Amino acid sequence: MSDIRADALIIGAGLSGAVVAARLAEEGVSVVCLEQGMKHQREDYRGRQDDWEITALGPWHASPNVRRGPADYPINDEDSVMKPLMFNGVGGSTILYGAHWMRFFPSDFRVRTLDGAADDWPITYNDLAPYYDRTDIAFGVSGIAGDPAYPAFPDYPMPPLPINVWGEKVAAGHSKLGWHWWPGSNAIASRHYEGRNPCVQRSTCGYGCNEGAKASVDLTHWPAAERAGAKLITGARVSQITHDSHGRATGAIYSDRSGTQYRVVANVVILAANAIGTPRLLLLSHSARYPNGLANGSGLVGKRLMMHPFTRVVGFFDEPMETWQGHWGQSLYSLEFAETRPDLAFIRGAKWNLGPSGGPLHAAMFSNGKN
Ligand SMILES: Cc1cc2nc3c(=O)[nH]c(=O)nc-3n(C[C@H](O)[C@H](O)[C@H](O)COP(=O)(O)OP(=O)(O)OC[C@H]3O[C@@H](n4cnc5c(N)ncnc54)[C@H](O)[C@@H]3O)c2cc1C
Ligand code: SF4
Repeated sequence: MSDIRADALIIGAGLSGAVVAARLAEEGVSVVCLEQGMKHQREDYRGRQDDWEITALGPWHASPNVRRGPADYPINDEDSVMKPLMFNGVGGSTILYGAHWMRFFPSDFRVRTLDGAADDWPITYNDLAPYYDRTDIAFGVSGIAGDPAYPAFPDYPMPPLPINVWGEKVAAGHSKLGWHWWPGSNAIASRHYEGRNPCVQRSTCGYGCNEGAKASVDLTHWPAAERAGAKLITGARVSQITHDSHGRATGAIYSDRSGTQYRVVANVVILAANAIGTPRLLLLSHSARYPNGLANGSGLVGKRLMMHPFTRVVGFFDEPMETWQGHWGQSLYSLEFAETRPDLAFIRGAKWNLGPSGGPLHAAMFSNGKN
C-alpha cells in the first residue's frame, strides 16, 4: 500500500469539503481531498432532455436508496419518518440542492433561553454574521437585503430572481392577510457572475443545473482550490480513519473503484462527508483503542441526527399559473409562523417558501404526496 502525504486530508468534496479545501489551499496548506464520487459535467444533467422527469425517478433521484449509483451507499431508513436525500460526487449534495439561501435567526441560537427547548448554541448570530456576509459573495447569492425579520446585513451581490406569476398570486394573498413575505434569496445567479450564467428558469434545479447558474461547489470553490494546489482524488471511498498510539488521527485508508487500497498520511484530518457519511465513517473507524468508533466517548456519534425536514403543500388555481417554470430554491418566503408566537399553542415554527411544481409528472406526483 503506497502512501500519499498532505498537511490536511479532507474526506468529502461536497459543500463543506470544498469551502475548507479552497480556504486552506489558498493559504498555502497542502491539501488532499478524497471523494467517493466523480466529477460531473453540465452535459451529464438531464434537464435539457425530454426524459428528465423520468430519470429523476431513477438515476437522478435525490435518495441514494433509489439512485443506487456506484458512488452511493445504502441508508437504512426503514424506522425513520424522514428519508435522507444527498448526492455523492464532486460538489456533494449541492449538485442537487435547491440553493434556497437563508440565514439562521438570532433566536435559533438561544432556543433554551427563549423557549425552554433543546440547547442554546455556544455562539450567537452576531458571531456568524461576518461569515454569512462573506459566504453570500463566495456563493453568488441573489436577493434583496432589508427583510425586517432579520438584523440589517449588506445587500446580496445580485438582484433577486423573478417571483413569477404564481409568486405574485401568493404574495398578494399574504399581503391581503397582513402576513410577512419577502422575495426569495437563492444561491442562483440572476446575471452573469464569476463565470456562471444567469438562471433560465427551467425548473430542473433538483437534478443538476445545465446552465451553471446554481452555486454548486464544483463551480464556486473547486476550481479555485485546485488552482491553488489542492489535490482532489475521485472514485476514492474512505473506509477507515487511522490513528497513532496517542489516539490522534493520522490519515485514512481508501479504495479506488477497482478495490485497490491506498493510505493517505496527514497532520490534520477533516471529515466533510455529510451529516450521515461523517458519523458513518467515525463508527467504521473503530479500533482496539476506540472500540465504539472515533470521537465517540459520549456514545452519541450517529444519534440525534438533526436534518432539515420539509414538507410540501400544493395549490390548484383556475387560471394558468405557469408553474412549470421558475427556480426551485424559493421564489418568495414567509416568516409569519417561523418564530414562537404567544397566540399559538406551540413553540418555534416553520419557514414557508414558495417554489414551482416543475414539469407535468412532478406536478402530478407532488399533488399525490410522492416525489
Ligand atoms: C435534494 C436536496 C435539496 C437541498 N436543498 C437545499 C437548499 O435549497 N438550501 C440549502 O441550504 N441546502 C439544501 N440542501 C442541503 C445541502 O445540500 C447540504 O446541507 C450540504 O450539501 C451538506 O454539505 P456537506 O459538505 O455536509 O455534505 P455533502 O455536500 O453531501 O458532501 C459530502 C461528500 O462526502 C462524500 N463522502 C461521504 N462519505 C465518503 C467516504 N466514505 N469516502 C469518500 N467520500 C465520501 C460524498 O460522496 C459527498 O460528495 C439540499 C440537499 C439535497 C440533497
Ligand atoms: S431554473 Fe435556474 S438554477 Fe434551476 S436548473 Fe434552471 S438555470 Fe439552473
